[in-house]
Amino acid sequence: MTSVYPHKKAKALKPSSRRPAKELCSECGLCDTYYIHYVKEACAFINQQIGELEEQTHDRSRNLDNPDELYFGVHQHMMAARKQQPIEGAQWTGIVSSIAIEMLNRGIVEGVVCVQNTKEDRFKPMPIIARTPEEILAARVNKPTLSPNLSVLEEIEKSGMKRLLVIGVGCQIQALRAVEKQLGLEKLYVLGTPCVDNVNRAGLQKFLETTSRSPETVVHYEFMQDFRVHFKHEDGSTETVPFFGLKTNKLKDVFAPSCMSCFDYVNSLADLVVGYMGAPFGWQWIVVRNDTGKEMLDLVKDQLQTQPVMSQGNRKEAVQQSIPAYDKGVTLPMWAAKLMGIVIEKIGPKGLEYARFSIDSHFTRNYLYVKRNHPEKLDAHVPEFAKRIVGQYKLPE
Ligand code: FAD
Ligand code: SF4
Repeated sequence: MTSVYPHKKAKALKPSSRRPAKELCSECGLCDTYYIHYVKEACAFINQQIGELEEQTHDRSRNLDNPDELYFGVHQHMMAARKQQPIEGAQWTGIVSSIAIEMLNRGIVEGVVCVQNTKEDRFKPMPIIARTPEEILAARVNKPTLSPNLSVLEEIEKSGMKRLLVIGVGCQIQALRAVEKQLGLEKLYVLGTPCVDNVNRAGLQKFLETTSRSPETVVHYEFMQDFRVHFKHEDGSTETVPFFGLKTNKLKDVFAPSCMSCFDYVNSLADLVVGYMGAPFGWQWIVVRNDTGKEMLDLVKDQLQTQPVMSQGNRKEAVQQSIPAYDKGVTLPMWAAKLMGIVIEKIGPKGLEYARFSIDSHFTRNYLYVKRNHPEKLDAHVPEFAKRIVGQYKLPE
């Protein structure tokens, strides 16, 4: 008898085997399962298909003539929010964990794909299907490393679950959407976070060692809207390092090649996205993409303080100037970096304009990376919206 699931005949790759996307692999986890059968179509780095998958997920692709959609993807609504009672130890205020807990507690889903860390290493990702609020809470806070979240996909089919929530970053969600119909689910909910500049575990170590005063005690860090990296240490103390003081020459090779060639910063295919970069300092930024996303957000509305999104300043000149500076690996002396950080925080872009600043800086850098390292992929791999964004700037050869 032939199986209705052709993928079951495929075999997961061994952890040590080279992945089909080769050096561009983001270790999303798909190839750790028999869904590797679909890799040529599903992998975000082999077959970029954001426009088609937007239509499948949101019933339409983004309107490139609408400036907010061009940057932030298909959406019904954006807002700034924070939990009235933040979850201790969450990356920001814990909106992601709170939504997941609510969905499980109310029986809307039977399981939640999320990522805890291993016992030995707080930054080593360990994807799981959580079935209790405690397991979701244990997955709070970013694992700032490539994480094979989709490696648990085979378990879903085996468990017989029909309603599932998946939490993940853009490359994981692109592959997930491409195989969604093969999972045998009645309803899939997708809660995404933006993601940029991720690293493998060795790269993370190098980043911490070159940037923090005490790499071994860092529990959590974030590139924040005040143009500083904020490190939180075990003893509760905070260390800040201005972006402009980062040792760009040493850090150039730290970011994973997948992240240097990614154009899905804003997680276009999630139903609901929770980040921070479009919101004022201390607040989270929420993008409701479709009705499913709205349903998810409504579950925690009474736990949130909210305000409309705002936008202030003009990013364009700062982005244009940062392009050759990054390219040449210029590092400012620390006093100049601090001064520049203070000035730019006072007069620089805020709210949605800060998000555009970050998107522009990363897309121009990544466009140059793909052009130089994978010129044969450039045209098909860079989505139309990213080409338009990059086209606003003058790039070096
Ligand atoms: P929490 O309640 O703490 O929950 C965090 C959730 O993230 C957990 O459920 C966990 O399963 C999941 N998670 C953790 N690590 C990973 C991982 N490596 N892959 C997939 N899922 C993971 N937002 C921005 O606005 N701009 C950015 O530049 C940006 N960069 C990011 C880079 C990375 C690598 C990650 C993982 C997130 C990034 N975010 C960014 C999102 C932001 O940092 C917060 O994760 C988000 O605002 C949710 O905060 P929270 O307190 O609600 O999450
Ligand atoms: Fe496979 Fe994911 Fe790597 Fe692509 S990114 S090769 S789908 S593990």
